[in-house]
Amino acid sequence: MHIRIEHLNKLYRGGNYALKNLSLEIPNGMFGLLGPNGAGKSTLMRILVTLMKPTSGQVWVNEYDLAKNRREIRAMLGYLPQDFSFFSKLKTYEFLDYTARLAGMKSSPARRTAVDQMLEEVGLYEARDRNANKLSGGMKRRLGIAQALINDPKIIIVDEPTTGLDPEERIRFRNLLSNLSTRDVIIILSTHIVGDISSTCHNMALLNKGELAFAGSPEDLVKEAIGNVWLIQATETEYLEINEKYPVISTIPTEGGWEVQVVASEINGYFGKQIEPNLEHAYVHFMENKLNQWSNQ
Ligand code: ADP
Repeated sequence: MHIRIEHLNKLYRGGNYALKNLSLEIPNGMFGLLGPNGAGKSTLMRILVTLMKPTSGQVWVNEYDLAKNRREIRAMLGYLPQDFSFFSKLKTYEFLDYTARLAGMKSSPARRTAVDQMLEEVGLYEARDRNANKLSGGMKRRLGIAQALINDPKIIIVDEPTTGLDPEERIRFRNLLSNLSTRDVIIILSTHIVGDISSTCHNMALLNKGELAFAGSPEDLVKEAIGNVWLIQATETEYLEINEKYPVISTIPTEGGWEVQVVASEINGYFGKQIEPNLEHAYVHFMENKLNQWSNQ
């Protein structure tokens, strides 16, 4: 599978460009779309799932043109929106059976097999007779992914994947998605949470104010931050100063002061050492430096 986005623009009524001349290639596997709120992620997702038309530009899914082959592309899609909700009266398996019918699976026995398999896959088989609206937050999210996967989609789009999940559920949900990425599919995770992307995505893009700020692997983004992350041993007074001067990533109390991680090109006068950046450091570095430089141009 392959998605090619070319010079995509979306102008909302009121003159707000949510996407500006966006060009991007999305290959097979797990793809992270990262950006702060308002960056244009949901707009791009809505265009990709054919819920909205762009103002200009083109999207190709393999050989299909999104503007002309909407039906063919829809048949390949599975979508889990952020605000996914379902009919409250249905049991878990009934809900999935219903979505399978909507997805065009007409034969009852085939549907029953597919529903049972899917319930197994997302770990909800035991909960099949429970009312869907009584499931826990994490289970609902898994039922959400089950409905997105029931027609064996080639492109799976998940908006804000871990919103509202506790840490254990986050890991479970992430593992479920990364198991899928071994197939010939594209999985796009759209998120403002760096942790949703770091461990699972081979490729990513960073959107800011509707524009593409970075495209590549998470490792490439991390490389850009080398030499710009410091661990400072600070006294109480220094800590307060540092907090004003630099983006602080984390603080740990020590005897007599604090160990402070900051993103900065230098730490004039403070006692500290450079440390290896991770994706969160790199994201902060990128947003603080590159994007500020651009906006000053
Ligand atoms: P994200 O998903 O990254 O938070 P969105 O795609 O929701 O970003 O929004 C991008 C920009 O477009 C924001 O400035 C937002 O206010 C604006 N926007 C989103 N939806 C609409 C709409 N229906 N009408 C007008 N402006 C919108």
